[in-house]
Amino acid sequence: MAVHYVPASEDEEFDDFYAIPISEQRLPKYRVPDDQSPPSAVYNLVLDELALDGNSSQNLATFCTTWAERETHDLMDACLAKNMVDKDEYPLTAEIEARCVHMLARLWHSPADQSTMGCSTTGSSEAAMLGGLALKWRWRQRRRERGLPSDRPNLVCGPVQVCWQKFARYFDVELREIPLEPGASGLRPHQLPAYVDENTIGVVAILGVTYTCEYEPVRDIAAQLDIIQQDTGIDVPIHVDAASGGFVAPFLHPEIVWDFSVERVASINASGHKYGMAPLGVGWVIWRTADLLPEDLVFRVDYLGGELPTFALNFSRPGGQVAAQYYNLLRYGHEGYRRVLHAGAEAARGLAEQASRIGPLRILYDGQGALPAVVWTLDHPESAGFTLYELSERLHQRGWQVPAYPLPPDRQDTVIQRVLVRHGIGYDKLALLGRDVETAVRELTHRADRPGPRSGFHH
Ligand SMILES: *Cc1c(COP(=O)(O)O)cnc(C)c1O
Repeated sequence: MAVHYVPASEDEEFDDFYAIPISEQRLPKYRVPDDQSPPSAVYNLVLDELALDGNSSQNLATFCTTWAERETHDLMDACLAKNMVDKDEYPLTAEIEARCVHMLARLWHSPADQSTMGCSTTGSSEAAMLGGLALKWRWRQRRRERGLPSDRPNLVCGPVQVCWQKFARYFDVELREIPLEPGASGLRPHQLPAYVDENTIGVVAILGVTYTCEYEPVRDIAAQLDIIQQDTGIDVPIHVDAASGGFVAPFLHPEIVWDFSVERVASINASGHKYGMAPLGVGWVIWRTADLLPEDLVFRVDYLGGELPTFALNFSRPGGQVAAQYYNLLRYGHEGYRRVLHAGAEAARGLAEQASRIGPLRILYDGQGALPAVVWTLDHPESAGFTLYELSERLHQRGWQVPAYPLPPDRQDTVIQRVLVRHGIGYDKLALLGRDVETAVRELTHRADRPGPRSGFHH
């Protein structure tokens, strides 16, 4: 059937986007329109609607990539048709994925970086599912071999991201989330013995805790698990959720020992679309050695040209993000990643200094030693005269997204505000944010000083 463009009406001869039928009414929202419309007009109409979204470069709530080089845009365009699952039709896309796996395995000190297993995913969430499944399968295998029951698996962790709660629920694993101790920013190793038992499939250690941006001490967690093994014989592997830190620590903090150089670390996930600087839609999971990924989780799928292994939750998936990840690894190299991240950490330090001079705020983290970010709280929440939720709302009026939220259970009384700094968020932009924070705090404080009912503020 031939497809040609037929103008729906005479009006379309008149070529102003805003003066043709589809523009002169509300856009369809519930029903597919009967007629077609000119592509450039619809493109602009959709773009106009999207412009009402927040400005992503002012979204300091996300770890994800919001800026990319021209070349990344072009590569994404060139990869429109590439389907990751179709390894036979796109063998080079598949090979590029494998190259990234080996590069990351090496970056994270796998003892078998050229032969180990790993894959790209849609993000760290899918990567966490796969890492968690491998832990569950290996634990069950060990239990069955010894004739022991394997119906009550548990996973031990600190204040994890929601993806681990999903993993636990979807795959029927008890999640043992250890509460934060006063003053702690993550799991502390001495807490482990009370939570780990023979049904523990693994411990998740987080490199870059979502709430506080700090690294959990993977090496010390491993040492504690060594002691538990000596005492009880229970041998528990570690999965490191390095969603953010996996692309930060190797470049900014090479002295921190957290990866496969710790023998107990069986697998690691990271988000390519966070500090890996790839566009949205790519994560990675890598096993220390190939034998740690159980064979029966890997599907051998027959393609036109032969049998290829896949381990993924999805079938079809875009290949552009993987190509862009490879581009970034080649383009930036160790030195480039280090410089981009260092610039982010310095910008964070600048904002932290600025914010620390604003009376009621107390800096909890200034972007040094872990993720490039700033975290603050109110020094005296009872007497400050305003809440961080109100400050967040004020900043939103200026377009900034700087969320306020409580720390995880057991420290829920502490409300914090977090600014994430990533590629494309420059020093000056953060200085402008700092100025807006200062103004907002001043206004909120004066409001509180004034007697009488508070008016004009809606919550
Ligand atoms: C962001 C994040 C995730 C989820 O990653 P996605 O790539 O968004 O799926 C998991 N764990 C941690 C620690 C994170 O920061």
